[in-house]
Amino acid sequence: MPPLPPPRPPATLPAVHWEATALTDRGRVRRTNEDAFLLLPDRGLFAVADGMGGHASGEVASEMAVQVLEQETAGLTPNAAPADVERALANAVHAANRAIYERAAKEPQHAGMGTTLTALALLPDASYRIAHVGDSRAYRIDTSGIHRLTTDHTWVQEQIELGRLTEADARRHPLSSVLTRALGIHHTVDVDLLRGTTAPGDLLLLASDGLTSPLTDDDIRAILEPELPLDELASRLVQAANLRGGPDNITVVLIRVTA
Ligand code: CA
Repeated sequence: MPPLPPPRPPATLPAVHWEATALTDRGRVRRTNEDAFLLLPDRGLFAVADGMGGHASGEVASEMAVQVLEQETAGLTPNAAPADVERALANAVHAANRAIYERAAKEPQHAGMGTTLTALALLPDASYRIAHVGDSRAYRIDTSGIHRLTTDHTWVQEQIELGRLTEADARRHPLSSVLTRALGIHHTVDVDLLRGTTAPGDLLLLASDGLTSPLTDDDIRAILEPELPLDELASRLVQAANLRGGPDNITVVLIRVTA
């Protein structure tokens, strides 16, 4: 008889659970919605993509981004090692970039289309992995406040880092939405890979700039009252952005970590 395999070591951290919701809205100005989201709570996989390109191209690019992400990470098992999750996320974002770039090159009506993509994988050990390109954002909200997890790939963000603009200047700047990185624009793309940990009671938020350009981080924090249901919080966020003029498509994915 072959020897028995060694027993699995016990998990060092108790597994966490989560609930999640998503909401997208055209806003008050745009005639179409070029945002897309991915909400796969069973797989712990979430994303927001904000397309650009006009003439139905923006929505093609953002939809391709979330679909390729879903397909390329389909092989991940719920107990996959964090390093494998991170690698799969990165590979999926590169694959989405190539797919969008190649389609834009082949189909003249989609020339120049692109999209942001902020993808978050939540793991049972309460850690998360993020792959990020563009100016959609991920936040973690806990009792100490709201924490921005991603850096915007925008010209104004670079100016903030150089000390040439304040956050408030950047918000009002005519070039505030000019991206320095997006999927589909070049045949390769630099992807930010981020990791961190959460705890029961934390909220994670993914959002397109239709939420974060009319609302400050403090505005968002004030809306996210911890005791309210997630669906209610998502509608309140969208409503608040629309009350400030709803200048762009608004998309939010909200995740609540539970014990
Ligand atoms: Ca947008």
